[in-house]
Amino acid sequence: MLEKVVIANRGEIALRILRACKELGIKTVAVHSQADAQLMHVHLADESVCIGPNNSTDSYLHIPAIISAAEVTNASAIHPGYGFLSENANFAEQVERSGFVFIGPSANVIRVMGDKVAAIEAMRKAGVPTVPGSNGELTEDHARNKKIAQEIGYPVIIKAAGGGGGRGMRVVHNSEDLIESIELTKAEALAAFNNGSVYLEKYLQNPRHVEVQVLADITGNAICLGDRDCSLQRRHQKVIEEAPAPLINEEKRQQILDSCIQACMNLGYLGAGTFEFLYEDGEFYFIEMNTRVQVEHPVTEMISGVDIVKEQLRIASGLPLEIKQSEVALQGCSIECRINAEDPDTFMPSPGTITQFHAPGGNGIRVDTHLYSGYSIPPYYDSLIAKIISFAPDRATAISRMLNALDETVIEGIKTNIPLHQKLLRDPNFAKGGVSIHYLENLLKSSE
Ligand code: ADP
Repeated sequence: MLEKVVIANRGEIALRILRACKELGIKTVAVHSQADAQLMHVHLADESVCIGPNNSTDSYLHIPAIISAAEVTNASAIHPGYGFLSENANFAEQVERSGFVFIGPSANVIRVMGDKVAAIEAMRKAGVPTVPGSNGELTEDHARNKKIAQEIGYPVIIKAAGGGGGRGMRVVHNSEDLIESIELTKAEALAAFNNGSVYLEKYLQNPRHVEVQVLADITGNAICLGDRDCSLQRRHQKVIEEAPAPLINEEKRQQILDSCIQACMNLGYLGAGTFEFLYEDGEFYFIEMNTRVQVEHPVTEMISGVDIVKEQLRIASGLPLEIKQSEVALQGCSIECRINAEDPDTFMPSPGTITQFHAPGGNGIRVDTHLYSGYSIPPYYDSLIAKIISFAPDRATAISRMLNALDETVIEGIKTNIPLHQKLLRDPNFAKGGVSIHYLENLLKSSE
């Protein structure tokens, strides 16, 4: 087992990783910015190192500072969490070159999956269904591009191969706008991602976001822990997630899960990963893979009983997975509400000091948070402050437990999006299950 792990992240996920390390008897090093000395996991870690000023470019994204912290503390591995450097192939490479274990897949796999054109190609080879599209980068050949779009049928979406975070995409409704849109997206992609490569896909009008959790070890064994529905999004940011995805055709689901396992084996994948799909009219379409642990991993942990972060640590230690696919037994239903420090109406961030904090509890409630009374939320980072997760034998009970939990939660001193969650959990269409990725934004528009 790894001896000492640097946690190269902050907030709730840093605390989540620290807890998993402690359970496995692994020593921990918290690295933090100047603004973050009061984070809960910094107090709980065996050692801590301040790696730079408040600005994340000079701290959580500063590769030499993080590697130096691993060196001075004599650590054996670095866990990147999510966001920040977690999908940066260059970081993974430098970590390994400096003699530490990067907790995640190889730099090479991160690089392939980080280029969406290459990722889609790799998935097609593994037999994973993808969105009908250009099957590769668009060239300067205008006539060819028009022909591709015509064959696929409008509307189409032009996407940057290096895009991320919902940026670098443009929907085109007719052939007159196609060429100009391609040029615009290319220019934007070059400026934003330093990669002007773009491709084209059919624009699905009313899809759901359904994703598949996988784990793969060094022996080549890969398992799948089922799916999650993350369709409730605002500006491509997930708000509520659940596992399993409701109302999915069982036969189709099984095919997709099997093809994701096959893709992991083909890729030589290592660690935890997520295949993201759009799901429309009973069909799955791969859009991208996340080569890291995700914010919403707890809902899968609740229905599978597998501790995904502990598995990441075990896999990085060179140990085989603790369970086989035949032993994966998914049970019940789990829902996660992302609690953000923000105004529930305007969505403006609401940093500040927590004057009172009371976490909910009871049967089937889990809270992943770094909050405590007196903690001051700095204005420099993501506004996620807590994840409330409910678990029950059935979806209706999971919803009602979540509503009780939200009622019990006390977070004073700042504003949070709890009222938005309460509204969504009482929404009749959410109760039915299976709303599309546009549902939340349409709901917000209609209540303006
Ligand atoms: P990013 O890496 O920026 O998150 P994704 O490829 O995951 O980019 O796409 C982000 C979101 O954009 C999807 O969740 C979906 O809402 C929308 N989207 C992407 N591709 C399509 C498509 N072909 N049709 C419809 N919507 C799409």
